[in-house]
Amino acid sequence: MKVLSVASEIYPLIKTGGLADVVGALPLALRSQGIQVRSLIPGYPAVMQRTPRCHKVVRTYATLMGGPASIVATQIDDLELFILHAPHLFDRPGGPYGDPSGTDWEDNWKRFAALSRVGSDISEGVLKGFVPDIVHAHDWQAAMTAAYMRYGKAVRTPSLVTIHNLAFQGQYPAAVFPQLGLPDAAMSLQGVEYYGGVGYLKAGLQSAWAITTVSPTYAREIHSPQFGMGLDGLLRMRSTDLHGILNGIDIATWDPQTDPRIPATYSTRSLNRRFGNRKQILQRFQLDEDVNPLFCVISRLTWQKGMDVLVGLIDDMVTLGVRIAVLGSGDHALEGAFLAASGKHPGRVGFIAGYDEELSHVMQAGCDAIVIPSRFEPCGLTQLYGLRYGCIPIVARTGGLADTVINANEAALNAGAATGFVFEPDNGQDLLYAVRRACNVYADSRLWSGMQRQGMKTDVSWTGSAARYARVYRSLMSRKPSDA
Ligand code: ADP
Repeated sequence: MKVLSVASEIYPLIKTGGLADVVGALPLALRSQGIQVRSLIPGYPAVMQRTPRCHKVVRTYATLMGGPASIVATQIDDLELFILHAPHLFDRPGGPYGDPSGTDWEDNWKRFAALSRVGSDISEGVLKGFVPDIVHAHDWQAAMTAAYMRYGKAVRTPSLVTIHNLAFQGQYPAAVFPQLGLPDAAMSLQGVEYYGGVGYLKAGLQSAWAITTVSPTYAREIHSPQFGMGLDGLLRMRSTDLHGILNGIDIATWDPQTDPRIPATYSTRSLNRRFGNRKQILQRFQLDEDVNPLFCVISRLTWQKGMDVLVGLIDDMVTLGVRIAVLGSGDHALEGAFLAASGKHPGRVGFIAGYDEELSHVMQAGCDAIVIPSRFEPCGLTQLYGLRYGCIPIVARTGGLADTVINANEAALNAGAATGFVFEPDNGQDLLYAVRRACNVYADSRLWSGMQRQGMKTDVSWTGSAARYARVYRSLMSRKPSDA
């Protein structure tokens, strides 16, 4: 089976969050299911710089959304790629979606319509050597692929859209529609129209043969107005085609026994070696050395992640004796609040603003627990890294966090099954109660290390989830287009 994956990020080439991790890891995981995945991604500078000289140009466009473009076929690391080389759209400084100051590019509608358009072209067989059996588009940036396919010649090719985060939808004014190259009929409630404008994710969810999202709990949550972000009605309508499949992690990259990024590697049998990593964390974050627990946060600093709730509790947590190392960037007000907290509690609270992949590994390998207070969390990856590294997750009961962490209630502790601490989302008191429970268990080092080991034994690999994706792909292939 051949699958074309279409996405705006792919690890290790370009990443702003969990989407990239998934898009990078899933192709390798599916290989063992006999499925060949090629990923279509934009030719950002970071991608073009890594593209080997021996690449092949497999198609050219005299003009694609306002400039010349080509599809480049290549392999980087283990990834088989089609790169959309369109300098007028993607060759610019900054991140994948915005300029260096973080402001979204005004022509994002054009950039990701182009990506989707090319995804649809490939599904129509424009590349001789690769005609996909299935097209799998990720998030709003690629979701229009399914719409282009539906209104184009690829109506017989099954399409799948994965929602990694419903909070980002790609909504644009109706004025962009005439430039998208879709038939007039597409500007309808059944097509791309969304509250009078054009909704990219909405169009994808309406057009795709099936929809997946990244955890069973999030799949259920988004049926409700509270989590559905305006799309819950459509998702309820498509309920039978909506599947929740948990993300896995790349357990080769994230392996505490071999991780080259951490000073001291370790296993369940040598947890003491984690102290070697902790040393580096204490130095980097300028924290005191003592016997109390060391918590960390590795996150985008946003409302979704519940960072405002957490920052409001820092004084209480410090009173409990906890030290906290925070690595993150995002909302300027939140960055300021964490900076102020570190100034107020020298030696107890440390804050590093920014994105640092290397440091995030050392933190998982050296801290005692990772706090994830999200208001909603489609899957979440940092709790999975935490489980794998013996950095016990303290998480809000939502989305994938609820699906992957076993709360340390009495029954779970007695059975030796507990892997973390779970609390009600958006509830500071319950978060504080979870922190207190964690401190109590930490005081009993055998109980604590038992939980660490239990977490480290949890299967967080892609194996089970890849098999589930393969099952969805196969069920789509056995479906006739008229059923779609
Ligand atoms: P989201 O995609 O919503 O940001 P996830 O938990 O799914 O959240 O994925 C976040 C990914 O980004 C994880 O791989 C996490 O380790 C990484 N990450 C987040 N913030 C930082 C940071 N400041 N530095 C390094 N890695 C980070």
